[in-house]
Amino acid sequence: MIKRGENVEKRFSRQMLFKQIGQVGQEKLGTAHVVIIGCGALGSAVSETLVRAGVGKLTIADRDYVEPSNLQRQQLFTEQDARDGIPKVIAAEKRLKMIREEVDIVTVLDHVDGPVMEQIAEEADLIMDATDNFETRLLINDMAWKRGIPWVYGACVGSSGTVFPFVPGQSACFRCLLPVLPSVNETCDTSGIIAPAVQITAAHQSAEALKWLTRNENAMRRKVFHFDVWNNTHVEAGISRMRNEVCETCGETPTYPALHRSEGTGYAVLCGRDTVQIIPSASRSLTIAEGEKVAERLGAPYKMTPFFVEFNAEGYRCVLFGNGRLLIHGLKDMKEGRKLYHQLFG
Ligand SMILES: [Zn+2]
Repeated sequence: MIKRGENVEKRFSRQMLFKQIGQVGQEKLGTAHVVIIGCGALGSAVSETLVRAGVGKLTIADRDYVEPSNLQRQQLFTEQDARDGIPKVIAAEKRLKMIREEVDIVTVLDHVDGPVMEQIAEEADLIMDATDNFETRLLINDMAWKRGIPWVYGACVGSSGTVFPFVPGQSACFRCLLPVLPSVNETCDTSGIIAPAVQITAAHQSAEALKWLTRNENAMRRKVFHFDVWNNTHVEAGISRMRNEVCETCGETPTYPALHRSEGTGYAVLCGRDTVQIIPSASRSLTIAEGEKVAERLGAPYKMTPFFVEFNAEGYRCVLFGNGRLLIHGLKDMKEGRKLYHQLFG
């Protein structure tokens, strides 16, 4: 909401002078709720732009904490955040509130699965993709079509980026495009990334967000935009003919499969990160206190924060979050991860 304490006329004067937004558009921004999935490089840039633009409420979801290798491109974070290992959503909230105190921010420090997505995005006006993997994008895509909420795809790696606003009912959906997307998921952890590629991608995403939120749908992109800032190239590709009539998300009888993934103990190797993530089943949820006990038993120094306990086990750096999610860094093998998890926690 735009609240009384905020001098709207002054604060947003340059944006309101832009006639496609004006006072009416500014008021719409003030009552808008945007959900941002991911708070790394794109999430930092998009959230800062939207907070400065006057968006009333942001929900920001991310499962990770700030590390030194993030600082080259994740603009909301500081060396202190990395030293303290602050969760990204917590560090982001603090910084965004310094930029604009009146903004309403909800932080979600969690792995976003079907139930979490349904909970946080139910009343959103728009979902911003700031993730780094196909699985979560399929989840956003299913949620968006189920609720009729647009979402803005954004991906960048190396010196290139891709942006497209998916609007339910107006375009093919992300799932329809899967057959033409590259099967190998190149990530910035394997191919590197330069900050300008992030900023350009985030800027195009934010522009689409402003258009949608201020009811300027007609100005929105109809083609997928892809650029490379190093090779000085860009292309646009139409996707209307890629619509799959029997798509599980946008076809006639949608099932939204990504929203109904099984909820047993989940094991995943985080893409390109040499990290195994373990999400215990609801009936066996680990607590930080249990993590502390295990760390004490192992006898090595460990670190406690309000959000997680970090310890070393078998030479691997383990981080257990308050909601029971465990990360084992330095491991890429799911089987090894599973073994270590059971060794530690039974
Ligand atoms: Zn589809």
